[in-house]
Amino acid sequence: MNDRHASGDRQVILGADGAVHVEAVPADPAGGPGDVLLAPVHLGICGSDVHVLRRSHPFVSPPVVTGHECVARVLATGPDVTSCAVGDLVVVNPLISCGTCDRCRAGAANQCASAKVLGFGLPGLARDRVVVAGRFCHRVPPGVPARTAVLTEPLAVGWHAAGRAPRPGRTLIIGGGPVGLAVLLALRTRGGAGHITLVEPVPAKRALAAAFGADEVVAPGELPSGLQVDTAFDCVAVAGTLATAATATVPGGTLVVVGVPAGDTSLPLARLQRWEIDVRGTGLYTDEDIAAVLEHLPSGPDAPDSRDGGDRLPDVTRLITAAYPVERAADAFAATGDPDQIKVLIDWPDPAAPDA
Ligand SMILES: [Zn+2]
Ligand SMILES: [Zn+2]
Repeated sequence: MNDRHASGDRQVILGADGAVHVEAVPADPAGGPGDVLLAPVHLGICGSDVHVLRRSHPFVSPPVVTGHECVARVLATGPDVTSCAVGDLVVVNPLISCGTCDRCRAGAANQCASAKVLGFGLPGLARDRVVVAGRFCHRVPPGVPARTAVLTEPLAVGWHAAGRAPRPGRTLIIGGGPVGLAVLLALRTRGGAGHITLVEPVPAKRALAAAFGADEVVAPGELPSGLQVDTAFDCVAVAGTLATAATATVPGGTLVVVGVPAGDTSLPLARLQRWEIDVRGTGLYTDEDIAAVLEHLPSGPDAPDSRDGGDRLPDVTRLITAAYPVERAADAFAATGDPDQIKVLIDWPDPAAPDA
């Protein structure tokens, strides 16, 4: 792969000083035969990125090149790459798994003990040009806009979580941020959920939850007394929400822990034991989840959808509440502090766009 440029690139660093820096880097690195050179087009900022910046992430501290929710244009491919071709739009699976351990070979690369995630344990995707192994790139179906595809990673978190409770029935979702809304979207698209109640403090997020198919959307403290569900997804995962979820789950039901607990926390174990309530974890996603989300993403308004039937997700771009060009990456991170923001993007000019 020899698409090397004399000109410098920029990358977005979450600095050790607590600030976001856009800094010049000498040149894009060369890739190997299985690698792809990408130009990011949109990058989503995740709550976990903000935790790294604020030094409240349990495992990662700055400085780190950020970026794991990315849709990118393929600029060059090594000779061994089969997943995509020059000019394609791709999303990247940022979970860099070993590919050879028994968990990876069982199709559960999210359980790979040696996996690292781009933007956390490895430098992220927030640079003008970035090299990634082709096996982590997924082609975006033709007609699906980049602004839709950039949501694949957070939607895959919800898709995987929904898959942890294959027969959800009556459902409670605690938390209506990007993850809770992604769980809701996955449940509605995959089917199997009955009446869905979602709890969320921010009115704008409650409105979106209603638009995305929740039957009942309430503020914390307004849960119907005696609510009983077959499945509860706790996307907050603090002691109080876990207790609420466990109390609401029927005997024989399932409690899925989706949120990232700040540390070890307590569960109402006596109730879980007596009533045979299953507690299940869910962590990240697999290539299969990413492929399923891509398959269900809606096409753009001016691209007739030629893909085979099946339920499409609704207009998920409603999750995007702000976007900033890469040179204003610091403003993009600052914007995430506003509770009304759901997904904030960092944008690059698309090299394939006619005016770029
Ligand atoms: Zn994310
Ligand atoms: Zn592995």
